[in-house]
Amino acid sequence: MKFKTLAIHAGYDPKEHFGAVMTPIYQTSTFAFHGPGEHGPFDYSRSGNPTRKALESCLAALEGGTAGFAFATGMAAETTLLMMFEAGDTIVVHEDLYGGTYRLFESVLANKRIHAHYVDLRNLAKFAEALAAAPKAVWVESPTNPLMNLVDIRAVSDLAHRRGALVICDNTFLSPYFQQPLELGADIVVHSTTKYINGHSDVVGGGLVVKDPGLAERIYFLQNAMGTCAGPQDCFLVLRGIKTLAVRMEEHNRNALEIARWLEKHPQVSAVLHPGLESHPQHMLALRQAQGFGGTFSFRVRGGEDAVKRALSRLRVFTLAESLGGVESLIEHPCTMSHASVPPDVQAKMGITPDLIRVSVGLEDVGDLIADLDAALASK
Ligand SMILES: *Cc1c(COP(=O)(O)O)cnc(C)c1O
Repeated sequence: MKFKTLAIHAGYDPKEHFGAVMTPIYQTSTFAFHGPGEHGPFDYSRSGNPTRKALESCLAALEGGTAGFAFATGMAAETTLLMMFEAGDTIVVHEDLYGGTYRLFESVLANKRIHAHYVDLRNLAKFAEALAAAPKAVWVESPTNPLMNLVDIRAVSDLAHRRGALVICDNTFLSPYFQQPLELGADIVVHSTTKYINGHSDVVGGGLVVKDPGLAERIYFLQNAMGTCAGPQDCFLVLRGIKTLAVRMEEHNRNALEIARWLEKHPQVSAVLHPGLESHPQHMLALRQAQGFGGTFSFRVRGGEDAVKRALSRLRVFTLAESLGGVESLIEHPCTMSHASVPPDVQAKMGITPDLIRVSVGLEDVGDLIADLDAALASK
């Protein structure tokens, strides 16, 4: 079955739930046993819950995996996954990545002697050098947040696998509708379902999807042992969001590209970082590895910090807020907001400078969005 059909039906059969067309919310902590030691398919909601199961199966189907796992947040998914590794292990991490992932590696895992070795994975020769130190895994994000750099997932996977390293790909920005990392060679897909997958800015959630049954078994063990799973109400909301993922992604993509093209011609804008623009240095890779560009991108404003602050305070339709992927348009200032946990020298090295603004383009009328930006960017 095709993606749009799977998004609406995968993982759920009404016949198993009294014919209920929408997945019921099994708001229960525990399940009755048939007899001592004899339980049905579920026994305790940390170990498994039918609403969560429906979401997990759906995520697996959409990413082309064999098993999916739903977590309380994207960071809970990442933390659980990274508990697969042990003190002394090294993970090669793409140097430009989500601020929370950076904080997890630097302020939590480093203390447990799980080391992140940061490499610009756009440079495959540098990655090949890093592989000589026998890392256990490589962590890829593509496109990256907020700089919209791409990593060639297939090339990185081929190199990593020759050295026995696992490939982990955070696919939050494009969602499985536009990019399928397992198909490109990755072993584990990470999601913050908070973003496009849920799509309505009313849930925090996370997901993992794998193909290999051995990996699935290890992740299931950790999810249950650590208790990082998502609750049934949140799973229901994410499932409801997924049903419209395809139509939402098409519209996010269309609106964002139109705004990016408009910004590129604006005199107050010095650069637009969007992989769908011919000016993006990795535009060809974007066309090859993904079926769309998503709805989030960044741009740089002329006139220093005053101009940035003025623009951000004038907006009427865009809301000044972190996060992305919802139906409403959000705008934010990475260096003081989403990436404030990244030290200033690292920010500067990466290119997260004060002139950088990130937008998550929503599903409002694109003309209204452009008019809002135009008024905000006016020099007077
Ligand atoms: C938001 C986000 C996360 C973390 O997810 P939470 O649901 O906020 O815990 C991880 N990776 C990326 C790319 C994100 O945008």
